[in-house]
Amino acid sequence: MTRNLRVFYNSLGTPEMYDLIRSRMGAGLELVTLDSDDDAERFAKIADCEVAIVAAKPLTAEAVAAAKKLELVHHQGVGYHDTVATDALTARDIRLALTPEGTTIGVAEHTLLLALGAARRAAFADAELRQGRWHVNALRPVSVELFDKTVGLIGFGRIGQEAAKRFNAFGCHCISFDPAMTPSPDLPAKAASFEEVVETSDILTLHVPLSAKTQHLIGADEIARMKQDAILVNTARGGIVDDAALASALASGKLLAAGLDVFEGEPISADHAFCGLPNVMLTPHISAGTRDAMGHKMTALFANLARFRAGEALNNEVALVPA
Ligand code: NAD
Repeated sequence: MTRNLRVFYNSLGTPEMYDLIRSRMGAGLELVTLDSDDDAERFAKIADCEVAIVAAKPLTAEAVAAAKKLELVHHQGVGYHDTVATDALTARDIRLALTPEGTTIGVAEHTLLLALGAARRAAFADAELRQGRWHVNALRPVSVELFDKTVGLIGFGRIGQEAAKRFNAFGCHCISFDPAMTPSPDLPAKAASFEEVVETSDILTLHVPLSAKTQHLIGADEIARMKQDAILVNTARGGIVDDAALASALASGKLLAAGLDVFEGEPISADHAFCGLPNVMLTPHISAGTRDAMGHKMTALFANLARFRAGEALNNEVALVPA
């Protein structure tokens, strides 16, 4: 016997976004949404829900405490390490599942967008042109191609592998560091050590989760060991890169450029050091935020909730272990 479920959406969305979500919802589910990004409203509404959907807005231990009926947290993407209070879930045997569907392609494509954009200073050229400045020659000495470059991927899971396939299509040579991956000629990048990836890549791109182990994985020391003309791309998470060290390297000419979708402390303000640099392309944490991705995610997520309602095994469930 299936039961009806109340599903809380933890982030504040727009009416159009809620419509898109509801258009993918199956029977027996009621979506509970926020009218404001306010914890008092959040705690009052989540209290009556069996399921919570989490996106960028963290589901805190306080929200879990308020959610007296909560049985399942479904992340809309995969980056739960810094957005879900997993200890609070484990303490009450609340389950956690992820939605890799929809996320991977969007982030992999955005990685290429930022690599190309940084290599060609596309954002700077566009902003300058809108001010009437036509830099037909000024960028030639600093603009590079992806072809024949070594691309180093740190983290070689779903997104890293899809990004590597796309870099390969541009004629790049891909190497990757990921302790969990078994090297194989079938993979789209050659396995390498962390040191080799950091020191030999022309383009270094990050695809690891943010955790205590990956906090400032790329700091001043690692940046100093990168090639003088390297490009750094981060579509993973802010905090994996030491932003202050990166900004000072980019300003000093140590690195050629960077393409960044994620930052330490989001949103960043207009007076952030990155905003004054011509050799950085910036986007506001939108790698996975396509209309296509949202549709794929919601279809997959609600198929999982149908399994949950029916008492069947879930796809992409995280085996939570007590701290
Ligand atoms: P995944 O779990 O498939 O792959 C992550 C890989 O990183 C794993 O293979 C793991 O072994 C590896 N890894 C972990 N720690 C490492 C370390 N210290 N050094 C090297 N490798 C390490 O996850 P995914 O789907 O590929 O996503 C990767 C990350 O991308 C997510 O954790 C998330 O933070 C980020 N992400 C960002 C956005 C965005 O909008 N910018 C969207 C989705 C995901």
